[in-house]
Amino acid sequence: MHATGLGMDSQAVRAAMVRKLQAQGVSDPMVLGAMHAVERHRFVDSALVNQAYEDTSLPIGLGQTISKPNVVARMAELLCQGRAEKLGRVLEIGTGCGYQAAVLSHLAREVYSIERLRGLHERARDNLRPLRVANLHLLLGDGMLGFPRGAPYAAIIAAAGGEDIPLAWTEQLAVGGRLVAPAANGSGGQHLVVIDKTATGLTRTVLEAVNFVPLKSGIA
Ligand code: SAH
Repeated sequence: MHATGLGMDSQAVRAAMVRKLQAQGVSDPMVLGAMHAVERHRFVDSALVNQAYEDTSLPIGLGQTISKPNVVARMAELLCQGRAEKLGRVLEIGTGCGYQAAVLSHLAREVYSIERLRGLHERARDNLRPLRVANLHLLLGDGMLGFPRGAPYAAIIAAAGGEDIPLAWTEQLAVGGRLVAPAANGSGGQHLVVIDKTATGLTRTVLEAVNFVPLKSGIA
C-alpha cells in the first residue's frame, strides 16, 4: 500500500489529470470517469507517488513501466469506440502493476489480464487486493497465446509490443470486437495498431508512433 504521500488531496489531483486528458482530446465520458476513479498513486512505488498523476510513464520494477495516463486513456477510448454501454469480456496482455487493468474494470463486464513475470503478477495482485475489483481476473502466463478459456473477447489490449500482432489474439477476438496494440513499424520504432474483426474479415488501422516495452514469450 503506497497511498500515504497524497492522502486526501488525491481526488483533486486526479480531477486535474482528467481535465488535462480532456484538453489532450480524450472525450469518452466512461473513460474519463474511470481515469478519475482509479487511484494511480496506489500502483507506483512510494518514492514515485508525487509523480503518479503527471503525464509520464513510470518504472514499476523488473525493467517494466506503467504507461502515461494519456496513453492509457487513448487506448481505452479506442477500445470503447464511442459505445455508451460497457464492453463485454476484455483481455489485457501485460498486467504490469495492474493500473490499466483497474481502469478497464470500469469499462467492461469482465477483464482478464495476463502477465508473464511472476514478480509483477504478484505485485498487481497486492496492489489490487484492497480495491476488491470483482470483475477482474489476474493470470500468470504467456499472453502471446492469449487466454483461450475467456474467448471470444469484445476487446483485446496489449501493453507490450512485438514484431507483429500474434495470430492467437485475432483468433480470440469476437466478431464485432476490436484489438488495440503496439507493433513494430519496420524501421526500429513502434506504432499503435487497431484491428477490427467483422463478419468478412480483419481491418487494420495504423495510428501514431508509440513506445512500449517489448512483448516477450514464455513466463519468467
Ligand atoms: N498495463 C500495465 C503496463 C505494464 S508494461 C500497467 O498498467 O502497469 C507491459 C507489461 O507487459 C510488462 O509487465 C511485461 O512483463 C508484460 N509482457 C510482455 N510480454 C508479455 C507476454 N507475452 N505475456 C504477458 N505479459 C507480457
